[in-house]
Amino acid sequence: MIASALQSIRSQIPQDVEIVAVSKFHPVSSLMEAYQAGQRSFGESRPQEFAAKVPQMPSDVRWHFIGHLQTNKLKLVLPYVTMVQSVDSLHLLEAISRWGQANSRRTDVLLELHLGAEETKQGFSEEEILDIVTRPEASFPGVRIRGLMGMATNTDDESLIEADFARIQALFKQISGACLDQLSIGMSGDWPIALRHGATMVRIGTSIFGPREY
Ligand SMILES: *Cc1c(COP(=O)(O)O)cnc(C)c1O
Repeated sequence: MIASALQSIRSQIPQDVEIVAVSKFHPVSSLMEAYQAGQRSFGESRPQEFAAKVPQMPSDVRWHFIGHLQTNKLKLVLPYVTMVQSVDSLHLLEAISRWGQANSRRTDVLLELHLGAEETKQGFSEEEILDIVTRPEASFPGVRIRGLMGMATNTDDESLIEADFARIQALFKQISGACLDQLSIGMSGDWPIALRHGATMVRIGTSIFGPREY
C-alpha cells in the first residue's frame, strides 16, 4: 500500500521536485516499506521520535526536520539531519549556527515564513526574512540558508491556499540565488497547488502512509 501510494504520487510530481515522506507518528516498519520502495528523504517533527528512529533506519536516509525545534533539543537532531526546514526564529537560527561552529558543520536550513491566519503563529514575517538573508554571509557561519518553507492555511478554500503560496513564491523569487534555491511548500492536501507556485520540495505524509494515530 505504501509502495503503491508512493508510486502514484511520484508519477504525478516532476522528477526535479524532491518528495519528503513525512513519517511522524508512523512506525519504523512503515518507513522501511517506503525505503524499500526507493524513498530516501523522510521528514520528522518531534526530536525524541526522530532520535529514536534514526538508528533503526539505513544510513543513507536523508532526514528533514520539519517541526518546532527548541534549542535544548538541538543535540538530538542536528547530528543526523540533512536539513532543518522549520527554522522559525532568529534565536533558533543563531543556536543552530553556534552548534555548527562548535561541531565544524554547516547545517542546511530553510526559513519558515508565517502563512495562513489564525491557527499558528509559527514562522517569520517577510521583513524578518529579508533582514536575515541580507546580512553578511559571516553572520551565521554554522548554517547554510537554502530557502523557504511554508504551510498554507488549513482550509478547503483553494483561493486562500493559492494566496498563501503566491506570497511565499514572491518572496522566494526576490531572495533566491545560487545556494538559496529551495522552496518547500505543499502537503498531502495541497501539493498540486504548490507545484504551480514553484515548489522544489513537497512534504507528504498522509497520502503516503495513511492517517496518523496520535
Ligand atoms: C505533518 C506535516 C506535513 C505532512 O502533512 P500531510 O497532510 O500528512 O501530508 C507537512 N509539513 C509539515 C510541516 C508537517 O508538520
